[in-house]
Amino acid sequence: MATGTRNKSGPARVRETKAAKRERALEILRRLEGEYPDAKCALNHRNAFELLAATILSAQCTDERVNQVTPSLFARYPTPHDLAAARQEELEEIIRSTGFFRSKAKSLLGMAQALVERHGGEVPAEMEALVVLPGVGRKTANVVLSNAFGKSEGVVVDTHVKRLAGRLGLTRETDPEKVERDLMELLPRDRWTAVEHLLIWHGRKVCDARRPRCETCVVASLCPTGGARLAVGDGAATDRAASKGEVARTTKRAASNGEGTRTTKRAASSAGAARKGAKR
Ligand code: SF4
Repeated sequence: MATGTRNKSGPARVRETKAAKRERALEILRRLEGEYPDAKCALNHRNAFELLAATILSAQCTDERVNQVTPSLFARYPTPHDLAAARQEELEEIIRSTGFFRSKAKSLLGMAQALVERHGGEVPAEMEALVVLPGVGRKTANVVLSNAFGKSEGVVVDTHVKRLAGRLGLTRETDPEKVERDLMELLPRDRWTAVEHLLIWHGRKVCDARRPRCETCVVASLCPTGGARLAVGDGAATDRAASKGEVARTTKRAASNGEGTRTTKRAASSAGAARKGAKR
């Protein structure tokens, strides 16, 4: 059910209900899964310890750069015991190119020592135990829990997830923990790992921070930001979904039910116009 208020100066503004937003979020995931069937954690690792160390290194650094550094790091220090006994200067040299190498070396050493002293050299599989390790916050803990242990305790909110969740109208928050809370409320637990991987991949490949390519985006007709951009001609109005005759069934249904946001309706109509244009 939609709720609406009428402005003095304009048409009724339709608010998206929670149920409509949930349905839209699930449809976004379905489409992105079609685009990125192999979306997964981009940090190379063979076990929980390697993933934990790689995630610490990935702060303010690209995954590609981390993947260039970790083979030498794990060849030199294959276990938490080895890393706990490392000399800080030597460690700094190996990880220097990832940036902030002094504080990262300190975190890696502290993390490895804590694993040895408190957990018998194993990475714990509980959020409470992970977030008190040096250099480990909730985001890092979520990465390890979901990718190394298959546990969905939360949603990893990195810069891509934060940006896309906002652009897609899935949250109004900008604080990562609040964005995470909104995504967790919106999606069932078994979709939490999928949403983080899919939004990260889409953010890297299409929804660029500076130049989102809305005109070729498969979720444009479900995206308030993309809908608004395409409606005002900011980008060629060639929504690929529309040109393939795949205009958002969900959005149309929501619109015909009087649900969905005004901008989402605009997206649907701009996508429809694009489709008509494509037929001509
Ligand atoms: S339509 Fe544009 S803003 Fe929305 S997700 Fe796609 S690329 Fe990003």
